[in-house]
This record gives sequence, C-alpha cells and structure tokens, in this order.
Amino acid sequence: MKNDCVFCAIAAGEIPSFKVYEDDETLAYLDINPFSRGHTLVIPKRHTVGLLDTDDDALARLIARVKAVAARVKDRLGCDGFNILQNNGEAAGQTVHHIHFHIVPRWTGDALAFTNQPGDMEKLKALAEQIRA
Ligand code: 5GP
Ligand code: ZN
Repeated sequence: MKNDCVFCAIAAGEIPSFKVYEDDETLAYLDINPFSRGHTLVIPKRHTVGLLDTDDDALARLIARVKAVAARVKDRLGCDGFNILQNNGEAAGQTVHHIHFHIVPRWTGDALAFTNQPGDMEKLKALAEQIRA
C-alpha cells in the first residue's frame, strides 16, 4: 500500500466506495464523478502506477476481471456498449497514479462528451447495489 494513494486507501477500506465487485486481488467500484451512468473503475489492490510497471501476469488477471465486470455492468444496466479507458501519465489525463481501467457504459445515441460530472451519492449507492446483485 502506498501512503498517499487514494485508490490504495479505497482498497484498504479507509475511504468508502460504492463497490460492485471484489476478490483477493481486485476491486471494482463506481467512479465518484462519472462520465455516464454506471461508470466503473477496476483496480488491482496491489499498488502499481500504470501499464508499464505492472507485470504481465498481474495485467492478464486484471484485464480478465475488467471483462467480467464489464459483462456484469452491461447485463445489469442494459447498456448498448461500453468504452474501456486506461490513462498513463498526466499528459494522457491520468489523475490518480494507481493503475485503473475505466468501464464507461454507452447507450445508442448518447453523444457522450467524456467529462466528469459530480455523482449523486444516493443514486450511486442504488446503482452499485444493482450491478453487484
Ligand atoms: P484518471 O483520470 O486518473 O484515469 O481517472 C481517475 C478517476 O478516478 C476519475 O474519473 C475520478 O472521478 C475518479 N476518482 C478520483 N477520486 C476518487 C475517489 O475518491 N473515489 C472514487 N470512487 N473515484 C475517484
Ligand atoms: Zn495505490
């Protein structure tokens, strides 16, 4: 665990999150400033910064979890598609320096602008329960 890392603190349960999936080495939870309804982040519990410092075996396991969580999001929310985003470095828009994959649900014709909107806590809570169930 890295001391000043917000996602390590979420993985350790020190900061609350709206969890949608958890296993020994992976956690998925709703983005607090979602691009779209059901915007989910998938992280390894073990801290690495990005794609290049994460070993291949850990990455392979992580992307398999991303796939499983995306399938669950799609099934539970009935979205038509989804984007997978993974930013590396501030120049690429990375703001949290703990590797994470974004799952951004998409609906036909939604014309999404990929801008963060402050989440409504009650709606996020209900949404996390809907996806987790
Ligand atoms: P990045 O731009 O680094 O790829 O994405 C970081 C994401 O983490 C952003 O979409 C932001 O809204 C989200 N985020 C930042 N802090 C928190 C937090 O404390 N809790 C949750 N659930 N999401 C966060
Ligand atoms: Zn971390």
